[in-house]
Amino acid sequence: MSGIKIPEREVPVVKETDVVVVGGGLAGVAAAAAAARQGMKVTLIEKTIALGGLATMGHVCIYLPIDDGNGNKVYGGLAEDLLHVCIKYSYDNLPEVWRNKPDTAPKDSERYQTNFNIPAAVLALDEFAEEEGIDVVFDTVFSEPIMDGKTVKGIVVENKSGRTAYMAKMFIDASGDSDLLYRAGADTETLPTIVSHWFHELDFKLMKEGIEKGDMMLATPLRWLGLTPSGGAGDEKEDLTCDGTTSEGVNKYIRLSRGLALDFLKKHQSPDFCMISMPTLPQFRMTRRLIGNDELKYDAEYHIEDSIGCVIASLDKPATVYEFPYGGLITDKLTNVAAAGRMVSASGRGWAIMRFIPACVLTGEAAGTAAALAIKNGTDLQHVDVKELQAVLQKNGVKLHRTKAMEGNVPVPRKPGGPRPAISKMYVHNDPEEVRQAGSGH
Ligand SMILES: Cc1cc2nc3c(=O)[nH]c(=O)nc-3n(C[C@H](O)[C@H](O)[C@H](O)COP(=O)(O)OP(=O)(O)OC[C@H]3O[C@@H](n4cnc5c(N)ncnc54)[C@H](O)[C@@H]3O)c2cc1C
Repeated sequence: MSGIKIPEREVPVVKETDVVVVGGGLAGVAAAAAAARQGMKVTLIEKTIALGGLATMGHVCIYLPIDDGNGNKVYGGLAEDLLHVCIKYSYDNLPEVWRNKPDTAPKDSERYQTNFNIPAAVLALDEFAEEEGIDVVFDTVFSEPIMDGKTVKGIVVENKSGRTAYMAKMFIDASGDSDLLYRAGADTETLPTIVSHWFHELDFKLMKEGIEKGDMMLATPLRWLGLTPSGGAGDEKEDLTCDGTTSEGVNKYIRLSRGLALDFLKKHQSPDFCMISMPTLPQFRMTRRLIGNDELKYDAEYHIEDSIGCVIASLDKPATVYEFPYGGLITDKLTNVAAAGRMVSASGRGWAIMRFIPACVLTGEAAGTAAALAIKNGTDLQHVDVKELQAVLQKNGVKLHRTKAMEGNVPVPRKPGGPRPAISKMYVHNDPEEVRQAGSGH
């Protein structure tokens, strides 16, 4: 590729503030709210025109369990609060036993999880951000950091006003893709992702059944389409994985994902059927994550001294409970940038654990709180007093360590090639015979 030199020019500074959060997915919203609750002035930069990220614009409208499947709540704090925000103004399938946010429920209770309505969640998140005093800037893309050694002084963004800068004392990268961390010089790892296309559909037959049963989610279910790397047919003619950190990868994803949808539509075209929504963010599970000072240890070490909260493999029942270290949010390469959400430091299966919505919100809350404490105490993120951080998180409802009751959870093993044990009704259509797919799942 050839290069071209762009003349240097001055960029107007729009704002100088305490904390800037890049990315308004649920992790970014949690990070911004947590910092604002500590009295910080917070600006959140979001490239789309809505909050929620994959959970709203990406159509992943299933808030997976925040309990361990044995009646113990694992995620409190904002991970629990945002679940309730998402269902504030529309339907849900939250089991009644969890409605009032108890810490425990009978062992055989249904899981503490819910589907939610996307537009209602977007509107409730707008309201939440306003109530929390977060300055949200939509339709604005972070493009590059302004560096001073290992410190990010500001970021350059691009929007309809052109190129401008936001300066801040602390930054949180909640872009899902480590855009800020990577461009500021942190070590990262990239993983290609498989292709999905989730959308809502309307089918007269199901709609009739939904109306008869008074069940809105049954009337307008989610349809999952997905591709395995081999297209489900075992032929490897085309590599069907995509790298979400390059323009080529994103465009390949969009082509394949919409191709799946078109194949499906051609088969189902009928006066009784239509698609009623379409994801407006590519549904990348994993893209680029931070290689931080520490990472999730999901095999042996259970008690983590600097834990910022418990996490679970949300789809397992009962779910093993792990503890996530503060060091998984930060890197010694940068003094004032923390990671939040699906790009925190966790490798292998750990990455799959940390990308579920509740874990993303938890790390958002911890990153926002840590950034605020660093500012208050005049330190960098490496010297945040972890005991103080833990005390604030715990006061706000976060479960830092496994309780006795959470120990020894061993998931029911999955039969080879068989489905996972069902965890709850998800109002999802996923017919393996229909399209070249093999159950893309969550
Ligand atoms: C197909 C699929 C199914 C899934 N199923 C489930 C499920 O059933 N339940 C569950 O709990 N989890 C599920 N997950 C995982 C979960 O949805 C996501 O991991 C989680 O929502 C990620 O939240 P986040 O805030 O970390 O990142 P994201 O939701 O990706 O948010 C990142 C935000 O940053 C913005 N952004 C990105 N780059 C920039 C930039 N340069 N400048 C400004 N803004 C930027 C984006 O627009 C976005 O709003 C699924 C994921 C996929 C892809």
